[in-house]
Amino acid sequence: MVKTDGKTAWTAKVLTLFPEMFPGPLGLSLSGQALKDGIWALETVDIRAFARDKHRTVDGAPFGGGPGMVMAPDVVDEALTAALSDGTEAPLIYLTPRGRPLCQDRVRELAGGPGVVLLCGRFEGVDERVLEARQIEEVSLGDFVLSGGEPAAIALIDACVRQLPGVMGSEESLAEESFERGLLEYPQYTRPRDWQGREVPEILISGHHDKIRAWRLAQAEEITKARRPDLWSRYTARMEMQPKA
Ligand code: SAH
Repeated sequence: MVKTDGKTAWTAKVLTLFPEMFPGPLGLSLSGQALKDGIWALETVDIRAFARDKHRTVDGAPFGGGPGMVMAPDVVDEALTAALSDGTEAPLIYLTPRGRPLCQDRVRELAGGPGVVLLCGRFEGVDERVLEARQIEEVSLGDFVLSGGEPAAIALIDACVRQLPGVMGSEESLAEESFERGLLEYPQYTRPRDWQGREVPEILISGHHDKIRAWRLAQAEEITKARRPDLWSRYTARMEMQPKA
């Protein structure tokens, strides 16, 4: 899709057996408005349309036995050929629990590119040979198993779209968020100042912006240290590498 400034909008192309799941939640709120505004575009490719037999079979029993069905390489490959036929340079990603866990750095990179082409698995997943032949990047949403790649695709697209220029009200709110500095976010408060006897921390009402910034950083550090030792050790290592001011 071409935007008013002549540039092609960031495009998410999704290969799925359930195109009716899209845009789904992506059609609402921030991402939905941005979709209407043409800041990004969504295309779905119905994998079943590439089945060859009259029963429109897309899967087969696994060689070697075992439960479930496996998505057939020829059907998936033809769907990929169709999806890539416009010469897109967007990275091709298969969503799978075996993939590299998605992180904010990768989200930022993906948002900075032309878009994404996402392959959603169903059943037990996709025949390994098509993944090899296409050299597909494998990305996981986390260490748990979904029943299909679609919710993972929706989450990945949502994370990218909110990074696109013009989607969030304030660019500042992106910079302050969890992971942006390698830390989890500090606690947030709004009115009322006293809620069920719990008061908003005094410092936030003080108007001392430097002190507020320092308090928030200290809180973010404390929370990260307590909840995510993995992030904390990376953060402290990075701090040690920085020249002292
Ligand atoms: N048999 C597979 C799981 C299949 S789940 C295994 O044990 O690894 C069916 C589909 O859901 C997968 O093909 C994948 O596309 C999607 N999926 C499941 N969990 C996911 C996760 N954590 N991240 C991304 N995609 C996932």
